[in-house]
Amino acid sequence: MVSTRSTTSDPGSGPTSASTGIFDYAPAPESRSVLNLRSSYGLFIDGEFVDPVAGGSFKSISPASEEVLAEIAEGDAADVDLAVQAARRAYTRTWSRLSGRERGKYLFRIARILQERSRELAVLESLDNGKPIRESRDVDIPQVAANFFYYAGWADKLDYAFPGKAPRPLGVAGQVIPWNFPLLMLSWKIAPALACGNTVVLKPAETTPLTALLFAEICQQADLPPGVVNIVTGAGETGRALVAHPDIDKVAFTGSTDVGRQIAKTVAGTRKKVTLELGGKAANIVFDDAPIDQAVEGIVDGIFFNQGHVCCAGSRLLVQESIAEDVLARLKRRMTTLRVGDPLDKNTDVGAINSAEQLAKIRELSDVGEQEGAGRWSPPCDLPSNGFWFPPTIFTGVTQAHRIAREEIFGPVLSVLTFRTPAEAVEKANNTPFGLSAGVWTDKGSRSLWMADKLRAGVVWANTFNKFDPASPFGGYKESGYGREGGRHGLEGYLRWDAS
Ligand code: NAD
Repeated sequence: MVSTRSTTSDPGSGPTSASTGIFDYAPAPESRSVLNLRSSYGLFIDGEFVDPVAGGSFKSISPASEEVLAEIAEGDAADVDLAVQAARRAYTRTWSRLSGRERGKYLFRIARILQERSRELAVLESLDNGKPIRESRDVDIPQVAANFFYYAGWADKLDYAFPGKAPRPLGVAGQVIPWNFPLLMLSWKIAPALACGNTVVLKPAETTPLTALLFAEICQQADLPPGVVNIVTGAGETGRALVAHPDIDKVAFTGSTDVGRQIAKTVAGTRKKVTLELGGKAANIVFDDAPIDQAVEGIVDGIFFNQGHVCCAGSRLLVQESIAEDVLARLKRRMTTLRVGDPLDKNTDVGAINSAEQLAKIRELSDVGEQEGAGRWSPPCDLPSNGFWFPPTIFTGVTQAHRIAREEIFGPVLSVLTFRTPAEAVEKANNTPFGLSAGVWTDKGSRSLWMADKLRAGVVWANTFNKFDPASPFGGYKESGYGREGGRHGLEGYLRWDAS
């Protein structure tokens, strides 16, 4: 074990759990014995695992230990074509002919299997992604099952959702997802698509393909007709081939704004319908009348949940000047109690950074923050010597001009800014090319509503942060993308009602 120490000493932070030993926890690792991990995985096309045409492969590793978990097939344009053909056949011959009620039964069945196999899925997600088992077990996997239950319920009620519009499915959806919530993003994509009568070809992220492949096994277990769900693993080139395929009717993408821009260009001028869920740089705004201890929990949850690999992370703390000192002291004290380490340990609060590339990006931007004059602070914390790790970090004295206040870091790094008036808070919060989410902490309901009205963000949380519900739509303004996922709105991206 190596140790990182705070870069500035802070009297407000007091003795740490590490130094007192009072709150030391014995290791409580979740067992891996529940997993039946294969050494290699093919592509899931037409209901079966098949070898890729060109025979390429890559490794999926555990970011916490760099252990190779499995060899994964690398799909190319020829494999994408086979998957799209399978999806088209399944759409024409079976799925679009089933009644909504029958489709709903399959989705309910998948949802129940997800619940039954939730422990297995949680362990695999934490192993492949690096997120704490506490989060995959208590947040990701329950939300995945909830999304399937929710959209199963809509499958036979589409006419009620859009009365008088006679909604019909689009056809084949090509879906590309990121690595931060691998199975959760899959559920956001596949559940509404299937409920509406579409078939899908999904490409998971190259660093986290394993739960999508376990989901493929769940589709087999649920007797889902072959070709309704196809999973093609690979990196950016595989995604590019999917997005460019001429026989898909819809592109659903979640990922970075740069790749989203490329995708928008690729599909421009085609008949493909598109939804883009992109990056963010959310403001978490704390007023002087807020319940401070609750707000501190919300700040911690907003930026350190999932190592800050969250598109809607509260990565900019805007705190009212009069309480800034108090909030920072309490925040630092709270941060000293965060346990960073083995994702499979049930006591862990902050797990591993997903990849060496992401770690390099977080380090680079953090170094820039220091060079630009912001004050950097991390609590004392022991980091494992193998794998990819970054301590929870805050930057104080940040201004709007700093890169760490403008660019998405996508890691456990918080930039702290101050404001004096609500108008200034709004101006600073909106001064970003992104517009995905925001948080407001105040005792006054009227102020929350006033702020929500003024903030250019798809989601505004009041006195909470990072709360999700399958029934609630989610999506961005500006460079955070377009289209909504979740809720009744999430159905619209997978339906048409024109005469075509
Ligand atoms: P990324 O854009 O690098 O990759 C996302 C996916 O796109 C991966 O599967 C990747 O293989 C694929 N891809 C890469 N290049 C491609 C191309 N040219 N054509 C098609 N597909 C391509 O993003 P990432 O690093 O995996 O994920 C992090 C980003 O995702 C962050 O910016 C985050 O904010 C965003 N995100 C957004 C939401 C949301 O709902 N708005 C949710 C989660 C993550």
